[in-house]
Amino acid sequence: MAENKIPYKIYLDESEIPSKWYNLRADMKNKPAPLLNPGTHQPMTAAELEGVFCSELVAQELDNESRYIDIPEEIQNFYKMYRPAPLVRAYYLEKALGTPAKIYYKFEGNNTSGSHKLNSAIAQAYYAKKQGLKGVTTETGAGQWGTALSMACSYFDLDCKVYMVKVSYEQKPFRREVMRTYGASVTPSPSATTQVGQKILAEHPGTTGSLGCAISEAVEAAVTNEGYRYVLGSVLNQVLLHQSIIGLEAKAAMDKYGIKPDIIIGCAGGGSNLGGLIAPFMGEKLRGEADYRIIAVEPKSCPSFTRGVYAYDFADTGMVCPLAKMYTLGSDFIPAPNHAGGLRYHGMSPVLSQLYADGLMEATSVAQTEVFAAAEMFARVEGTLPAPESSHAIRAAIDEALKCKETGEEKTILFGLTGTGYFDMLAYEKYHDKKMTDYVPTDEELAVYRAKLPKID
Ligand SMILES: *Cc1c(COP(=O)(O)O)cnc(C)c1O
Repeated sequence: MAENKIPYKIYLDESEIPSKWYNLRADMKNKPAPLLNPGTHQPMTAAELEGVFCSELVAQELDNESRYIDIPEEIQNFYKMYRPAPLVRAYYLEKALGTPAKIYYKFEGNNTSGSHKLNSAIAQAYYAKKQGLKGVTTETGAGQWGTALSMACSYFDLDCKVYMVKVSYEQKPFRREVMRTYGASVTPSPSATTQVGQKILAEHPGTTGSLGCAISEAVEAAVTNEGYRYVLGSVLNQVLLHQSIIGLEAKAAMDKYGIKPDIIIGCAGGGSNLGGLIAPFMGEKLRGEADYRIIAVEPKSCPSFTRGVYAYDFADTGMVCPLAKMYTLGSDFIPAPNHAGGLRYHGMSPVLSQLYADGLMEATSVAQTEVFAAAEMFARVEGTLPAPESSHAIRAAIDEALKCKETGEEKTILFGLTGTGYFDMLAYEKYHDKKMTDYVPTDEELAVYRAKLPKID
């Protein structure tokens, strides 16, 4: 390794942290479909959206034209606490695989929340504060987004109400306590504190909740509490915009050494880390300046891209959110209870959905036992304990590197290592005890949820 000119970690200087986010939509010929009002099926206006979301974030959500958007100085200052994030050359993984491929990963787990979600949480909290709001509401599943938002709200002295999927609230007390440490209030969802929660509890007594339920409750809490707005950690255009910092930094680091990736890989839940990682590269691809193979990786148990349909669907179970056109499994879809690897949202970012529909990126799905095998190998050779979500990307990167081993091609692979897995040890335990199984939904099961998609003409 000594004679190799590429260091193990490529760090940018603090002064090289991007000062603008890149808005990929500006370069898309086919823009992502607009959000629709669930009652009228007409595109949501800014005024309608501002009842739920912060005004500046609504402007960003609807802005398909501005290529760059300035990152306010306060957000840049916060970014300096944990950015720039390193770009790592996975020399040890390459060696363990015996591949001629060159593997790089962008590591976003270097902050207390443990994932990339803080990049957007701090932006959303900033705009809420600037608008003079008292606080924000949100949902969280396993807790990464809630943790990131709690940190961001505490920095700007905003109240933060988190609706946490009940099963996680009960089984993952540690994330809950991190959120409370940062001053957030955490309510298990469904709860009796909202009308939609009461309705869901009456219809499904004993339910352990779902992301879709928690979103409905958080939205209701925002619109019924004076001085509150709702914020979301993925899927939305604004979130992909904030996450473009991942790709901008990765590209700047690669450019320093004249490295050009052939393949870019990211895990895809709602699409925010992948959308952020690929942003500047996809921009070049859209403008015809360069070409890259881009691969989204999702769980076989929640296969929105690979087995979903591209259609307008509800974002939440209570059907209070705007309709989004996206690759979806249907808003009632919940992955099987044995699914432990995250990435469990039924839909996908409208931006990525449009790019996928236009053939500009690929998608693949992987089984969770293969994912944990990749996670464990990665932890052992590269040192970092990866989040199960991130490990979907590791799995795909390893598989591509092994293909290079067969063909002898020296491809350059870049993947997103979105976070660390310290709070996911119950899932690792299942894997180690060989209690983890792979459940793949049947076509018949998926058809049941698909039949319930709203009819939009
Ligand atoms: C939330 C999360 C994801 C998935 O969300 P995206 O919006 O698809 O990026 C991936 N990795 C980690 C560590 C997460 O916390």
